Amino acid sequence: MNIAFIGLGNMGAPMAQNLIKAGHSVTGFDTAAAPEGIPMAASAPEAVQEADVVITMLPNGAILRSVANLVIPAMKPGAVLCDCSTVDVDSAKAVAEQAEAAGLGALDAPVSGGVGGASAGTLTFMVGGGDAAFATVQPLFEIMGQKAVHCGAAGAGQSAKICNNMILGVTMIATCEAFALADKLGLDRQKMYDVVSTSSGYSWTMNAYTPAPGVGATSPADNGYKPGFAAELMLKDLRLSQQAAESADADTPMGQLAAALYEHFVEQENGKGMDFSAMLPRFEKRGRG
Ligand code: NAD
Repeated sequence: MNIAFIGLGNMGAPMAQNLIKAGHSVTGFDTAAAPEGIPMAASAPEAVQEADVVITMLPNGAILRSVANLVIPAMKPGAVLCDCSTVDVDSAKAVAEQAEAAGLGALDAPVSGGVGGASAGTLTFMVGGGDAAFATVQPLFEIMGQKAVHCGAAGAGQSAKICNNMILGVTMIATCEAFALADKLGLDRQKMYDVVSTSSGYSWTMNAYTPAPGVGATSPADNGYKPGFAAELMLKDLRLSQQAAESADADTPMGQLAAALYEHFVEQENGKGMDFSAMLPRFEKRGRG
């Protein structure tokens, strides 16, 4: 397949390199990065001219919309625009509508698995869009990842991603709060883990990504809270969840509070560059006042 890949940063570069390794022809474009081993075009429209599938991996919805304005008119009829970035649901739907009106296929296909998953080709794709476009891109999802779930129509992939990550953010905060409360109550952390990890308070954050060093699963907490999944990326996803809740008139008070806590942590408490589980040392330092 002829593939154009736009946005070759931390995630996009290894994803594109895996497609090349699997024998596909990839033409890249990025306004700043020029990773090794990826033939680059001089502009986004030039990169997409011959492409059967155009993959984008960009920082946010505004940039996706501006790139879509450039590439949609330059794409071959019937080609598929597949956005793998994490962006707001409204931008995902708007870009899909624009692509379909131009006679193209369109998918929103955000990922989970991070930079490690992108390099190893073990990402999970959450996909919104039409059946035919999904069938075209599925072989590429199989190279870049281990699982692709077709979640529904345009926007459904982004919706699944932000619902998942809203649960993750809220649950991480609850888990960190509970460890900090246990400390103040004089309850041993290991004992709390032994009880909770096999009781009704168990969760992925407690059992698989334990935020307390030396307790439970090996995690970024055991590595000085180096990410992992950075607090600022969690903040980005929580903000997207609140933007979607606003747009869809959904009541998400816990998501709102989680977004506010991560915002404070990242912007005023040196949380930037820390793993999102570093909420635990943040709570350790604080009393009620
Ligand atoms: P990044 O900043 O490393 O890469 C983005 C790339 O896009 C950069 O190389 C930048 O130069 C390029 N770019 C910006 N504007 C452009 C334009 N107009 N035209 C062409 N290229 C342009 O970010 P990343 O970590 O690779 O993340 C990409 C997306 O994946 C984001 O939406 C992020 O939320 C999502 N994501 C990231 C992770 C992660 O762990 N890093 C995990 C899951 C999802």
